[in-house]
Amino acid sequence: MTDFPIAYIEPVFRPPSEAHSLILPVTNGCSWNNCTFCEMYTEAQKKFRARDEREVLDEIRRAGERLIVQRVFLADGDALVLPT
Ligand code: SF4
Repeated sequence: MTDFPIAYIEPVFRPPSEAHSLILPVTNGCSWNNCTFCEMYTEAQKKFRARDEREVLDEIRRAGERLIVQRVFLADGDALVLPT
């Protein structure tokens, strides 16, 4: 078991522009998953779902206790599908 505060479901994709960001999954997979050029979230474990809010908030709290974070990238493929 790792001490890292976030439980990732692999594979995780990091956009080059987010090289120094904490990747924080608030969804798993992509809600659309239909772009013909994209195979990022086709594996069974990446079937789309919103993550449990309490689980995400707990990870944010633990990340705040253990990491120095200046920038966060909300993952996975279509995190903004969630209500604000
Ligand atoms: S992750 Fe992005 S590129 Fe891939 S299917 Fe979803 S919207 Fe399209």
